[in-house]
Amino acid sequence: MARDHEDFCSFCGRTHADGAQLIASPVGVNICADCVERCDQMLKQQAGHDGQDESAPSPIPVLDVPKPADLKAYLDDYVVGQDYVKRVLSVGVHNHYKRLQHLRENAAAGGVPEVEIEKSNIVLVGPTGSGKTLLARTLARRLDVPFAITDATTLTEAGYVGEDVENILLRLVQAADYDVGRAQVGIIYVDEIDKIARRTENVSITRDVSGEGVQQALLKILEGTIANVPPKGGRKHPNQEYLKIDTSHILFICSGAFIGLDQMIKRRVGKRVLGFGGNDADSLETLDILQSKDILTHIEPEDLIKYGLIPEFIGRLPIVAHLQELTEDDLIHILTSTRNAIIKQYQHLLKMEGVTLTFDDSALKALARQALKRGTGARGLRAILEHLMVNIMFDIPSRKDVDTCTITADVVNGNSEPLLTLRRKPKAKKSA
Ligand code: ADP
Repeated sequence: MARDHEDFCSFCGRTHADGAQLIASPVGVNICADCVERCDQMLKQQAGHDGQDESAPSPIPVLDVPKPADLKAYLDDYVVGQDYVKRVLSVGVHNHYKRLQHLRENAAAGGVPEVEIEKSNIVLVGPTGSGKTLLARTLARRLDVPFAITDATTLTEAGYVGEDVENILLRLVQAADYDVGRAQVGIIYVDEIDKIARRTENVSITRDVSGEGVQQALLKILEGTIANVPPKGGRKHPNQEYLKIDTSHILFICSGAFIGLDQMIKRRVGKRVLGFGGNDADSLETLDILQSKDILTHIEPEDLIKYGLIPEFIGRLPIVAHLQELTEDDLIHILTSTRNAIIKQYQHLLKMEGVTLTFDDSALKALARQALKRGTGARGLRAILEHLMVNIMFDIPSRKDVDTCTITADVVNGNSEPLLTLRRKPKAKKSA
């Protein structure tokens, strides 16, 4: 035991001589390392008993849920065209969050909901650069919920080289600044979902690491599970502490280009004409569908199954919407009219130098045509414009004499230099 003239731990009474590692306080008392550890454990247990039961679900946060028409109007400010998909998304997302608020109110009143509205995850089918990611991101911003993007091709089923599906959830938790309650009502965007299609329609006997296995791994988190997420990412290992994330209220928006899907739909629809027993009206309608430019309007879940997504996976993604290829007019619109239009951004930057930047109509058309040629939708626009503007943005800030800068089709096509008008020099005053 402690003696008067010797330092000792004020909690357990042990001294240096008893093997205690003492930490002194400024007021003259000490605590040993073992007691610090014991106190830490007690505090953690206390937190558990104070209603912070780790297995209890975090309450659903209060969210302002805009009406579908308001969501669509917001999307219109940022995303050009794609009217149909904007409507489908606005309704789907509105219903999803209304459902959550309904659950929250019921839970607060201690009741059970009369009607259980099911979660509606979404699949977006559409060409690259047509606005799939932009739509999802814009919706998340309007709803003020955390948003995370992942690429399905980087995922593998547990135990294989690649990312565990739980890491998707970690990204969402990080986007919510580690507020698990908010993360649990966030939106996860899974891109390139078409790349994890299984390669044949037959059930594989051997395991298909890149395709079906990943779909299986995603199934659980899509429909709702309590997932164990390593807080620092990476692979799971025993004795690790996990964040417990309930995925049942997370909205998943999966997307892909699904190249060749249109041909599959045509083949399916075409069979109706070739088959016996159909009447003429049916055949005419079928021919209409086959000739329509927008065959993807007729997409059905069975087409996605044929493409290689497993039925259970499609079953968790009840809303399917498709985007159209952007036209030349759409691309011009994207350049000039959206809230963050790229040309507006350049004009703003040069305005700060006192220079008026103008793109004439021919220049806009030439830019849109170049982007169409690249086949990467609106994604190409920024790259083309950045390449075009680099010299202008390099030179102009060092010049004081430029008043206006005009870009024409010839400039875009590399056949001429931008047209500059110079400021008139102030006339020197005549000396009296
Ligand atoms: P994807 O369909 O491949 O997900 P993105 O949404 O990522 O395409 O689009 C890439 C970029 O192209 C966006 O950041 C945006 O600047 C622009 N973009 C694409 N589609 C549109 C659109 N419909 N309206 C406005 N900008 C668009």
